[in-house]
Amino acid sequence: MVSSFLSPATITKEHDLASLHLSRDQSLPVILSTEATNAADEGYAEGVVTNTRFGSFPHSTIIGTPWGSQIRASIVDTGSRGRGGPKKRKAEALENDDGAGTKNAITASSGFVHVLPPTPENWTTSLPHRTQVVYTPDYSYILHRIRARPGSRLIEAGSGSGSFTHAAARAVFDGYPQQAAPEADDEGGEGSKSTGQVFSFEYHAERHQKVKGEMAEHGLDTVVSAFHRDVYKDGFLVGNERQTSPRANAVFLDLPAPWEALPHLTRHTLDGTPSSLDPESAVHICTFSPCIEQVQKTVSELRRHDWLEIEMVEMQHKRMDIRREYTSLQYESLRGTNPFAVDVDEAVSKLREVEQRARDFHAGILSAKAAKALNSQQHNKLANLPFNGGKLIHRTEPDLKTHTSYLVFALLPRAWTEEDEAVAQAKWSKHV
Ligand code: SAM
Repeated sequence: MVSSFLSPATITKEHDLASLHLSRDQSLPVILSTEATNAADEGYAEGVVTNTRFGSFPHSTIIGTPWGSQIRASIVDTGSRGRGGPKKRKAEALENDDGAGTKNAITASSGFVHVLPPTPENWTTSLPHRTQVVYTPDYSYILHRIRARPGSRLIEAGSGSGSFTHAAARAVFDGYPQQAAPEADDEGGEGSKSTGQVFSFEYHAERHQKVKGEMAEHGLDTVVSAFHRDVYKDGFLVGNERQTSPRANAVFLDLPAPWEALPHLTRHTLDGTPSSLDPESAVHICTFSPCIEQVQKTVSELRRHDWLEIEMVEMQHKRMDIRREYTSLQYESLRGTNPFAVDVDEAVSKLREVEQRARDFHAGILSAKAAKALNSQQHNKLANLPFNGGKLIHRTEPDLKTHTSYLVFALLPRAWTEEDEAVAQAKWSKHV
């Protein structure tokens, strides 16, 4: 199954997971379907109808449209069997007798939504929260810092609500494997796959089952193997006997006590079991903790286990609201004109003038022409062109939709044995 999270087709189709984008911060995940799947949808000949504050959206009006389309709300009239109340039974509804005595009708209404393909970003804003989740500003930075890229083998614990898992899956995905992904369950999973993999561990049984189910539903189970495991106690080895190394080169720990998992993330193990880390690669780790005391314990344990370049970062994600403010005089001169109805040639020539003035300014020369232009500006000529009037201001938005935590990053260099050195020397001597 090709996951719409990884490579969406161009057109929406039956059974696709779609994100109905309602507003900047609000989207609704829906499985597109024309078949009524529950009693609530049975009054509609169109199958499933999603009702939002912007109106009703029968899936029959969404399926078959290109991703990104604006979908107008419909007034859905269910006639005698109807649900939905008088609002939906407006007289202007176009009637369509379904032959079974049920009058069904759809007509366009003024509300709209956009139908977007599922992405980790819109899934994060709409997913069913079972825990605190990692939001996009954090996970984009984390994935970048732990060098997650196509082909990476990434350990994640705990899976939680699967927010980070979706983003990690997309980051490491490097094409569909030849064979099915390892069947991961309590004891299952096999470590060695050629393709990029996420190994996601969770000790809460229900959460584990949910994440596992979601991965299958979203077509990500070829990339993500979900394990039900207490990682403090049992570490990260996979396979039926839990003896196979996932050969991880990236690790993300969103756990209450990450330091308790660190003894399982070493190059050498005391009991002779394989290391969970890729011996041929440096390993990048990130831990995510809300309290500084947790950070201190994590940092001590990282040092104890030879991790280097330990660094803590706190994300301060802010949205900037940038707008142009006019003085009352400028506003008056603009009144009655459409600020966007600008003659393009005039605008381009003004832009060139402005650029030239900036160049002159930086060269320390104010040419006669530029001086004249500035002079004429004082005479309020430029106020007629709204892009030149006013003053650009910015404000930061107070609401931060991110779970603020301290991010601890560290690096474990690749293992280097005498044998590795001998191989390297032999290769080198061939070239000299
Ligand atoms: N990163 C996740 C996301 O973006 O949705 C959220 C993770 S949530 C904050 C932390 C999870 O760690 C919880 O679901 C919890 O059950 C799990 N957890 C706690 N201790 C654990 C352990 N010892 N082994 C495995 N999972 C554990």
